[in-house]
Amino acid sequence: MSEINKAPRGTNDITPEESYKWQFVEKKLIETAGLYGFKEIRTPVFEHTEVFTKNVGDTTDVVQKEMYTFTDKGDRSITLRPEFTAGVIRSVIEHSLTAAALPVKVCYTGGCYRYEKPQAGRLREFHQFGVECVGAASPAADAEVIALADGLLKSVGIEKISLEINSIGCPTCRAEYHKALKEYFKEHTDDLCGTCNERLDRNPMRILDCKSPVCSEIASKAPVVIDYLCDDCKAHFEGVKAHLDAINIKYIVNPHIVRGLDYYTRTVFELVSGDIGAQSTVCGGGRYDGLLEQMGGQATPALGFAMGVERLLMVLESQGKELPTPQPCDIYIAPMGEAAALKASQMCFNLRNEGFQALTDIVGRGLKAQMRYANKINAVFTLVLGDSELESGKAKLKCMANGEEKEISLDNIISEIYNARLDMLAEAIK
Ligand code: ATP
Ligand code: MG
Repeated sequence: MSEINKAPRGTNDITPEESYKWQFVEKKLIETAGLYGFKEIRTPVFEHTEVFTKNVGDTTDVVQKEMYTFTDKGDRSITLRPEFTAGVIRSVIEHSLTAAALPVKVCYTGGCYRYEKPQAGRLREFHQFGVECVGAASPAADAEVIALADGLLKSVGIEKISLEINSIGCPTCRAEYHKALKEYFKEHTDDLCGTCNERLDRNPMRILDCKSPVCSEIASKAPVVIDYLCDDCKAHFEGVKAHLDAINIKYIVNPHIVRGLDYYTRTVFELVSGDIGAQSTVCGGGRYDGLLEQMGGQATPALGFAMGVERLLMVLESQGKELPTPQPCDIYIAPMGEAAALKASQMCFNLRNEGFQALTDIVGRGLKAQMRYANKINAVFTLVLGDSELESGKAKLKCMANGEEKEISLDNIISEIYNARLDMLAEAIK
């Protein structure tokens, strides 16, 4: 097949055989976040480029290497969102959402775009589910958001996942830390990659999440930020841990987590799976107390996280979790002849109005071929409708699982299907 007839590199089609898993997971995530008071927000897939360059940070991998940026026909620089937070906060400020009761709690789901080297768990179009909690400074807020991230993964059926937390301090304590980092990395300038050498003066912390093996090896022995926290940041981190302990959420402190985006302050965290290979971080998040002010809003503390839906599904699969399959066709009505076809259409229409999946022939097949089709689509019941059935007003409802037939009145089809479904349910839970 020629390249142009295939989905672009790093993108996936979600076919009908797969989409029910996405629907299940996204519904569950939104519902569970709803229990914590989060409401869905939908923002554009693209934003003005500055939304990301200024706020995600111009020395980050995302901005330096990964953005899909183009000039539109009106000569504006536009970027497909590589992440949600910057766009969502832009929206929160634009619509003065913080003027209502604080904290503002929003969640989102949708596609993100990053020009990366495609591999297992790393795509150019991928999907995130995430939340932002705006207007809460206390450690209890951090613990609640972390508990939600952990709880979400459990809610979709993930059993084993490890929670790692860290604090990367505030601008005050970070000044000292930057000094220490610069001193350390200056000894290694010959070995660091070109990008990291450029980062050294402007933002040495970015070297800590460089993906080059040589840089990561050097970074692994660098001073860790948690040793440089000011008293306030230390107290905050202790508070977060105390709250997590109180609600019995298990975590480990990993002093090497720094996160790849510039806006983070204080608490950062990741949920990491041992089941999906190298791209093991399913969820990442943290506090970003400076972002609203930086984006032209009022200074407002905030925090959030984002999880990769593809990676989440990979974990479910590797842990052998079966997701509920969609409701099959409740009834296939097989008409023979014109008059029966009209009646079948009418019956299907009524059944659908009552919430049943009802199908009939729209291809023009003979009876045998219709029954083969009903079998292929796993119809629960079938009903053959010919002249004699139309005349008598009665027909045989056949259960495809056991072949049993029951004569029913066509006028009662809805209650008959309803009762037959109930009987089957009762049988299934016996
Ligand atoms: P990584 O270290 O794997 O590059 P990241 O730090 O760039 O991740 P974030 O920006 O924190 O990732 O995004 C949050 C989540 O989104 C990640 O934990 C991951 O599950 C998912 N994610 C990020 N980039 C990709 C991608 N290219 N393909 C698939 N999922 C991704
Ligand atoms: Mg990345």
